[in-house]
Amino acid sequence: MSDLDWGNLPFGYIKTDYNTRCYYRNGKWGEIEVSSSEEVSIHIAATTLHYGQEAFEGMKAFKGKDNKVRLFRWEENAKRMRNSAKGVMMAEVPDEIFIASVEKAIKLNERFIPPYGSGASLYIRPLLIGTGARVGVKPADEYLFMIFVTPVGPYFKEGFKPVKMMIERKFDRAAPLGTGNIKVGGNYAASLNSLDIAHEKGYASALFLDAKEKKYIDEAGPANFFGIKNNTYVTPHSDSILPSITNMSLVTMAEDMGMKVERRRIPVEELSTFEEAGGCGTAAVISPIGQIDDLGTGESYVYDMEKAGEVSTKLYHRLQAIQAGDEEDKFNWIKVVEL
Ligand SMILES: *Cc1c(COP(=O)(O)O)cnc(C)c1O
Repeated sequence: MSDLDWGNLPFGYIKTDYNTRCYYRNGKWGEIEVSSSEEVSIHIAATTLHYGQEAFEGMKAFKGKDNKVRLFRWEENAKRMRNSAKGVMMAEVPDEIFIASVEKAIKLNERFIPPYGSGASLYIRPLLIGTGARVGVKPADEYLFMIFVTPVGPYFKEGFKPVKMMIERKFDRAAPLGTGNIKVGGNYAASLNSLDIAHEKGYASALFLDAKEKKYIDEAGPANFFGIKNNTYVTPHSDSILPSITNMSLVTMAEDMGMKVERRRIPVEELSTFEEAGGCGTAAVISPIGQIDDLGTGESYVYDMEKAGEVSTKLYHRLQAIQAGDEEDKFNWIKVVEL
């Protein structure tokens, strides 16, 4: 076991021992290779460097009380990565290669899996890039699928505490028929200016509105948005948001807990009617939103900056309990990794 200070890990990169690589050449995927180098050598004209042929995933492995290592809904990450690959015309990673690489990366770095109860987990970052050389704009003929893992602490150091968000209208993250619904680096590049404004002004993140009409809630920074009212879980329906696996899971749990679920457009003004609001994603599970300031209209939507709402809290603890193996895996979301 590594001697890291498990209780105080940042949400950042810590070097581990090995990563995996798998090359797509001559129309087929090769063997999964193991590397101890943190560097990648690629052609200077690789399409990932010029034309954004890149997609990634983010998932976590958790150590349970029983010391078993659990993966959460990996099939959904594999499926989403295939979909992202299609969206920017890259070779799709077959599920067998995806899961074999994930398991290999976890096993080879077993000593970096944070212990049960530390609040930390092993973050897994699958990455697919176009490595074939091109100067004209067309898809590469060669691809590289890599996975590195790194132990991470909780996304927000302060813990499960409400954050402040802002809405500004200077930048869009994704166009309606663009790449907002796939997990590609370009969406993140497009969001950096908004996030920078948010951080500069003391907000945790920026809420993005739909790019076409600027009327509806789209994404909550790098997370999906949800609001709670009248025993209903409301989350945006939009072509330009990334289908979050955390959000899908919260929806299932909310229904299981007797709540109604609505997936529909959410007009900005509706923010004033929610009892609770939050962002959700693998990194933080749920970030409760305590307040949203609309810098365009001057309107402020205030929930509770002191503590997270009752429903968000319940969902947050239940999802984490399932991931850690403390609660029965009723929905069949867990795969135990054989070490
Ligand atoms: C990855 C991501 C999310 C969260 O998805 P999860 O599967 O829950 O981790 C939400 N929004 C965007 C834009 C993302 O890239």
